[in-house]
Formats: sequence, C-alpha cells, structure tokens
Amino acid sequence: MTDNRTHRVVIVGGGAGGLELACKLGRKFGPRHVALIDKDGDHIWKPSLHEVAAGTLDIHREGLSYFMLARDCGFTFILGELSGLDRESRIAQVNAVLSDTRQEIFPAREIPYDTLVLAVGSKSNFFNTPGAAEFAIALDSTAEAERFRLRLLHEIVAASRRKDQDPDHVLHIGIVGGGATGVELAAELLEAFSDSVFYGLHALQPGKDIRIILLEGGERILSALPEKMSAAAQQLLIDRGVAVKTSVRVAAVEADALVDGEGHRYPAQLCVWAAGIKAPELLAQLGLETNRIGQVVVDGSLRTADPAIFAFGDCAQAPWAGAGRSLPARAQVAHQQANFLLDAMRDRISGAAPSKPREFRFRDYGSLVSVGHNRGVGSLMGVLSGKNWFVEGMLARLMYMSLHLMHHRAVLGPLRTGLLAIGRLLLKRSAPRVKLH
Ligand SMILES: Cc1cc2nc3c(=O)[nH]c(=O)nc-3n(C[C@H](O)[C@H](O)[C@H](O)COP(=O)(O)OP(=O)(O)OC[C@H]3O[C@@H](n4cnc5c(N)ncnc54)[C@H](O)[C@@H]3O)c2cc1C
Repeated sequence: MTDNRTHRVVIVGGGAGGLELACKLGRKFGPRHVALIDKDGDHIWKPSLHEVAAGTLDIHREGLSYFMLARDCGFTFILGELSGLDRESRIAQVNAVLSDTRQEIFPAREIPYDTLVLAVGSKSNFFNTPGAAEFAIALDSTAEAERFRLRLLHEIVAASRRKDQDPDHVLHIGIVGGGATGVELAAELLEAFSDSVFYGLHALQPGKDIRIILLEGGERILSALPEKMSAAAQQLLIDRGVAVKTSVRVAAVEADALVDGEGHRYPAQLCVWAAGIKAPELLAQLGLETNRIGQVVVDGSLRTADPAIFAFGDCAQAPWAGAGRSLPARAQVAHQQANFLLDAMRDRISGAAPSKPREFRFRDYGSLVSVGHNRGVGSLMGVLSGKNWFVEGMLARLMYMSLHLMHHRAVLGPLRTGLLAIGRLLLKRSAPRVKLH
C-alpha cells in the first residue's frame, strides 16, 4: 500500500481502454498517482492488427512508445508482464524483462497500488481444436500480426518462384471465423495482393493463383451484426474473389489444410484463427471470480468483489444495462468504459468521499466493418430514434477510420492527432503501400 497522501491507481494493460484511462488520469493527477503496466513497449490500436498482418500498416511507423506517452501525458510507465497479485498487501507482481539474447533489461518488480484496474484484453480461443495452436496464427498481438505478414511474404515469393515449374500452383490462405476480424483481414489481404503485384510480384494473379477461403461455423458471417450488413459484406467479399463458406465448423488444423467436422479438407498453406476470444489465463489465478472464458466478473460499476480492484474492456464480463446480457468485446465498449471510470478514479485519488456508485450504460453507436480501403459496411444506431441505419461504401469507411482517430485524440489530444494524421497522409505518398521487407 502507498501512503495516504498519494493514492496510486495502477492500470494493467495499455490497450484500447487502459491507455485512454492512463492518459486522461495522468494529465489530471500526474505520475505519482497514475501508473500503467504493459508487457509491450509500444502501443498499437488492436483493431488495426489485420492491416499490420496484411502489410498495409507498418508498426514501426504506427506504434506509439509508452515511454513517450508517459512523459507527454503524465503517468508512470512500467514495462513488464503482470504475473500475479498479493491482494492483501496490494502489490502487483511484474515479471523481469529480458532481451532477445535473454539478458535482463528490467528485474522482476513489486508495484504497490491502492486501486488496481485490470485492462489486459483478450486473446484468440482455439477451443482445443487439434493443430490450431501449432499451425494457425492468431492476430492477438503486433508480434503475431508481424509473424503472419512475414510468412505471407515468404509464401508469396515462394509461390511466385514455383509458378515457373508448375503453372497450376495455387497459394491457399484459410481464415477461420467470419466475425469482424476475419472479414476485415480477408478484405485487407485483397488490397495487399493487388499492391504486391504492383510492386513486382506479378507472376501471381490474385483470385486465381492466390485464393482466400473464409470458414464460418454459424449460418452467416458477422452474426453479431444486423443481417443486412452480413449479406452486404459477404457479397463484397465474394465479388472480390473470396470463397465464403458458412455453417462449416473447423475440427482440425493441419500444416497445409483445414479439416471440417465431416472430414472435408480445405487446402491452406497459411491459416489465421479468428474464431472467438478468451481472457488471459492469469486472471483465473488472482482469486477473483471469472467466467467460462476466463473474464473477470464485474458489477455494473465495473468493480470486482475486491474493493481495490476494477476490471474493464475485453478481459471483463460486465452487465449490459437494459439488454439482459453481457457487453460485447469491442473497442467501442472499452473506450466508453475508460471514460466512465474517470469519475471513480478521481474520487479515489483526490480522497473525496465516494459518490454513490453509478452504473455504466453502454451507448451503442452501431458497428462498422472495413471491407477495403475505399469500402466499408456498417449499421449506425440513431441515438435519438433508436433506429438502425445501414451505411456502406466510402462513407462507412470514413466513419470506420474516425474510430481510430477518436482513440488517438483521447491519447494524444486533438492538435497532435491532427498533425499525426497529416504526417501519415504525406508519408503514404512517399512510401510503398505495402510493407515488403
Ligand atoms: C484484428 C482485429 C480487428 C478488430 N476490429 C474491431 C473493430 O473494428 N471494432 C471494434 O469495436 N473492435 C474491434 N476489435 C476488438 C478490439 O480490438 C477490442 O475489443 C479492444 O482492443 C479491447 O480493448 P482492451 O483495452 O480491453 O484490450 P486490448 O486493446 O487488447 O489491450 C490489452 C493490453 O493489455 C496488455 N497486456 C495483456 N496481458 C498483460 C499482462 N499480463 N501484463 C501487462 N500487460 C498485459 C497488452 O499488451 C495490451 O496492450 C478488433 C480486434 C482485432 C484483433
């Protein structure tokens, strides 16, 4: 525990939600009161990972250093992975940080907290499918997205060389899961292929020599979204040459194929798993209540049963007030929950008598899915009418991009977000559209 005068809020996980909370609190209260722990040194907005995987977004340009953000926004940054808690003494245990050559950069540390906020996100759930963990890549982190990008590049070059000896050779890419991640990745890969061909890998014809198959276990893709949106997204993918198969449950993943429950094999030299999420295993070891997929169970004010610990974002199961179910794992939810927690954290830091706990109410503004650089589909929730509006095309794509800008604005402030957006636009003109190295 820290001394009474410096109530310390420690946020674990600097993702879509945790980083916004750390920046907003840090600007107000400074580094003695606010600390952020993350296992990575750079932040990237997770919904951009499919672009990193396809090579259309360069993490070395897009990533924001937490150390830089800590200095600018006024919080303390602690690099390292949370490994456990001593809840009685209110200590967060953080693993040592090692270099590639296993040299110790930072030792294991014990970080005292008065209030702890868990925002460690989620990762892909392979549902114990044989071969999935071994052969499929999940877009859980920048490291995995980069791993996919490099494998893709190598497979494209290898397929391009093989084409000389075997004109019928096809590079098959399998995507398991027709949610937003799978759909957006398929669309982004199509963009990348057309650009790779443009940059000299012209022996391969996308659609003929490189084929993408998307397998979805449910009756339709984007099943959490309105039916009209699923149908529009599916048609756009099919028109652009993606094979979309619904009601297909993948039962096994092999080195070069996906196998469904009936034994049907779908060739895939490269496979991405995007079929559901679970929370990091660590959460189940903290002595807090967790659900079937390992999320920490919180009440309507995002509190756990331990009065010193809150949890939000993908790693928490929070009630959806008025909807009779839990909130979905979405960036929009994490963003709104970060804003909601500001008041409770302010009361704790300033020592004010806690105001009556408020209930978090999610305002669903709709969902947008990117299906290419100039295309998107989405449904927008009329805030006043409560009616669903269907949008598509460039308008939907622009609105989709504005979500990313909103995140940047919360983190960097409006001026720097504007400058960054202009800078990136100019860089796009001078650098290759696809990262080829
Ligand atoms: C490819 C893709 C596309 C998506 N597209 C959309 C979209 O269009 N719209 C949408 O609403 N949602 C989308 N999502 C979902 C969205 O990204 C998540 O809902 C959102 O990022 C959740 O925010 P979070 O803060 O809970 O967790 P995250 O953003 O995942 O952040 C978790 C953070 O915790 C850190 N961390 C994890 N474990 C530890 C540990 N033990 N110690 C220290 N740090 C740790 C991680 O490094 C990370 O920085 C997409 C997800 C993916 C993968």
